[in-house]
Amino acid sequence: MRIVVDLNKCQGYAQCAFLAPDVFTMHGEEALLYDPRAADEHRDAVARAAAACPVQAITVEGLHQGAPAEPEQVLTGAPWEPRDGR
Ligand code: SF4
Repeated sequence: MRIVVDLNKCQGYAQCAFLAPDVFTMHGEEALLYDPRAADEHRDAVARAAAACPVQAITVEGLHQGAPAEPEQVLTGAPWEPRDGR
């Protein structure tokens, strides 16, 4: 997972620091410090932080890597109806 914060957009609202304090930290009133290579254990918190940023300043690459694959779709029953009434 790779995190990039566009510091030109960031307004220091600190939503990210509130939601993922192990990754984002406010340094003073407006300066944001963050771990661009946060450990996977912080994946959910980082996703919430990115979603909550009011100016969409947080980009996360590889957010879904390592997530469990979608289960295979299993079709049950006949996908068609017999036309001759049988
Ligand atoms: S939530 Fe967004 S605007 Fe606020 S400090 Fe974090 S990156 Fe900056």
